[in-house]
Amino acid sequence: MNLWFATNNTHKKHELESCLKEAVPNVKLMIPSEEGISFDPAETGTAFFENALIKARALKELLGNDDPVIADDSGLCVDSLDGRPGVYSSHYGFTDKKKLTSREQNILLLEELSSNPKRTARFICAMVLLFSNDRFYFVQETLEGEIARKSDMRGEGGFGYDPVFLVSGFGRTLAELSTEEKNSLSHRGKAGRLIAKMLWQN
Ligand code: IMP
Repeated sequence: MNLWFATNNTHKKHELESCLKEAVPNVKLMIPSEEGISFDPAETGTAFFENALIKARALKELLGNDDPVIADDSGLCVDSLDGRPGVYSSHYGFTDKKKLTSREQNILLLEELSSNPKRTARFICAMVLLFSNDRFYFVQETLEGEIARKSDMRGEGGFGYDPVFLVSGFGRTLAELSTEEKNSLSHRGKAGRLIAKMLWQN
């Protein structure tokens, strides 16, 4: 079965692939950029689930076939920043003139938090499995943790804010975990396993 993931992020693809292979054998997970398809829908929603649905519907329309489409929208919500960067996590710190690398975004976040003792945060992932414009399944999952101090930013794995996110009760950042370890507890791993069950039942 062909299954599409409405993202150009290969890290996200590998994480979801790992969830799916446990539950749904014989699924080929494809992303637009690897199939020569240009895909960059405007994420105009103000909630994760809105943007996930926007991405899923946009890819479905582009494909124009019966293949099911998965989309996720995710981000980091920091309590002492009133939930920022939230749905705008991928653009955190961007201006009209300058985009930041993930490393620069992490440093900016650590600077913004500075010595603030309240460092609790969570990753959120809204994921949708879409069969047609009007028929879809939604889940939203979280991963609780804390933003590291500057000296604790570490790890080479994962992507985005993983090097500054300390998993509750683990003492390690997400970037220090293997894909399988990260998936076993992450927002995307939990959502992906639920979506895999729904796919299996269809
Ligand atoms: P999206 O592709 O629009 O969902 O943007 C998600 C953004 O949130 C990414 O660009 C990352 O900055 C951040 N993010 C979401 N999930 C993760 C994760 O698992 N690890 C680290 N950063 C993440």
